[in-house]
Amino acid sequence: MLKGLNRYIFEEKLVTTVRRRLKPLGEYSVSSSQSIIYVEPAEGAPLEPALAAAKKIFGIVSVSRAAVCEKTPEGIMRVAGEYLRETFSQPRTFKVEARRADKRFPLTSPQIGAEVGGYLHDMYPHLTPKMDDPDVLVRVEVREKYAFVSAGRTPGAGGIPTGTAGRAMLLLSGGIDSPVAGYMMAKRGLELGAVHFFSYPYTSMEAKQKVLDLAEILAGYCGKITVSVVPFTEIQTAIRANCSEDYFTIIMRRMMMRIAQQVAERQNCSALITGESLGQVASQTLQSLCVTDAVCEMPVFRPLIGMDKDEIVTVSQKIGTFETSILPYEDCCTVFTPKHPQTKPRPENVLKQEEALDVETLVNKAVENTERITLG
Ligand code: ATP
Ligand code: MG
Repeated sequence: MLKGLNRYIFEEKLVTTVRRRLKPLGEYSVSSSQSIIYVEPAEGAPLEPALAAAKKIFGIVSVSRAAVCEKTPEGIMRVAGEYLRETFSQPRTFKVEARRADKRFPLTSPQIGAEVGGYLHDMYPHLTPKMDDPDVLVRVEVREKYAFVSAGRTPGAGGIPTGTAGRAMLLLSGGIDSPVAGYMMAKRGLELGAVHFFSYPYTSMEAKQKVLDLAEILAGYCGKITVSVVPFTEIQTAIRANCSEDYFTIIMRRMMMRIAQQVAERQNCSALITGESLGQVASQTLQSLCVTDAVCEMPVFRPLIGMDKDEIVTVSQKIGTFETSILPYEDCCTVFTPKHPQTKPRPENVLKQEEALDVETLVNKAVENTERITLG
């Protein structure tokens, strides 16, 4: 989908990513040509896990399984006939499309298409050739050493190769929303770091593990993620002791953002990502978001801002985070939650309330005592 001269940068990055993700699974040779990445398993390297891993890599539009053939017209036909036996066990419309990387091959691409198509039709008479939108599109690729036959594609993860857009820091809670937000931004090519605010003992070790599990699932799509676990108990207790109850949530949000920015800077991230959605809760009204953003110098990406909860849930089910997100462990946001939080906090009141806190010391201390755990 990319135009222009920088296309090869994206493709090289993608090939490197494919190599890295497949490495733990076995030995594969990975090469690319004309925007197609070829993965050839060495003897004994499993194919199914490699296919599953490839489907999760951002930047890949579709994944197909292919059979290798000897590079002669007869070799291609023989393998195609055998390989497609199951696919062609019922009546279907089909078309053969060929590409030649090796121009010395005795047949041109249209000739390969016609020959292989004719052969398959003879072998499976219940097939109907159809040039436009066939049920099965058989592809033949003639390459340097071998030819390949494939049929059907499954959709890949789409998006842009991870890391080509820079790095951003995801505020990762244990909820449904933030993992989805991270996934959506990673799909746009961002590498992710994550920060989690942890209020032990008000939130349990299980709650922390749940967040690490979510990060591990995300890492399946976007590669290694380092989670910075920030001790947040002292800050929450200080806010509760010194500020008025209805401002508790908004001040807590501002503290989170201040800390997240510092953690982000230390890890070369140039933006923050949150799972906020307009109007979902008191801290996500327009006024609250404005007051929160006032402490942010970095851009804050909120990819869910215009989504409904059920739309977010659909994505979280698709990417496999939902089941973990709904485990019943408390998040720090639900600790000390006021009964009637401000939905229209005024900036001057927030500043006044914060005067009762030693913001700088609290923030620095939390940043200093952050624990880092790398997953993926
Ligand atoms: P989520 O489902 O992501 O927890 P939410 O709907 O529960 O979101 P809030 O609890 O208000 O909404 O949190 C809004 C956003 O703030 C979250 O999406 C997340 O990005 C961030 N956030 C909340 N709690 C934490 C936490 N403990 N650690 C890190 N980030 C958090
Ligand atoms: Mg939450």
